[in-house]
Amino acid sequence: MTTEGIKISIETNILTIKKNIEKALIKSGREGDEVQLIAVTKTVDVQRINEAIDAGITSIGENRTNEIVEKYNLIGNKVDFHMIGHLQTNKVKYILGKTKLIHSLDRLSLAKELDKRSKNNDIITDVLLQVNVAEEESKFGLRLDEVLYFIEDILEFTNIRVRGLMTIAPYTEDKALLRNVFRSLYKLKEDIKGRKYEGIYMDYLSMGMSNDYEIAIEEGSNMVRIGSSIFGKRNY
Ligand SMILES: *Cc1c(COP(=O)(O)O)cnc(C)c1O
Repeated sequence: MTTEGIKISIETNILTIKKNIEKALIKSGREGDEVQLIAVTKTVDVQRINEAIDAGITSIGENRTNEIVEKYNLIGNKVDFHMIGHLQTNKVKYILGKTKLIHSLDRLSLAKELDKRSKNNDIITDVLLQVNVAEEESKFGLRLDEVLYFIEDILEFTNIRVRGLMTIAPYTEDKALLRNVFRSLYKLKEDIKGRKYEGIYMDYLSMGMSNDYEIAIEEGSNMVRIGSSIFGKRNY
């Protein structure tokens, strides 16, 4: 494929997704609400990322710290970087200060490390709590019934700021199951909001990927993470 061909298709894909987002908002009576589109760029090279940026993308998502560092050095602050993958405690130091939002806070040791390093660097690090709603063995994240206790445990960490919740739904065509997962997380978000914890914000509900973002939006998502529907199938 020529460069021009790729460019047109990335651009077209983004436009299609934006239209679908609007449709899902209208369908669920949320017309006019904002949904942040995060282009998931894992394995995608900088040239194609730049094409997505030219087509209006302002946020990109990566799941590995080394890819964040590499791409941050090449692309810089033309876009916001979102860490969406499992974050090892010993790798926090590499990405600290480079991310707009870390979607994958899922354990106390990581909260401690993020808080400590953020304090040392005199910054506040914005995070989402990752929730494994469907309790899949293969996935990271807190269980729904652990989240409130976890919040109580991290209230003392003043250099991390919780901005909301994130989940990765099961990979399935079962729409009812997906809807259920997303609805459960939305309910939890509303519950937490109602408790008015000091320093805990519920601005973002990061849910929805290529396979399921329309259902996620219908169930209250305002941040979707989309890779293959923009860039095509990934080559690992
Ligand atoms: C890869 C990935 C995505 C994007 O998945 P697609 O199915 O390609 O849209 C979203 N969220 C996370 C956490 C991912 O790892």
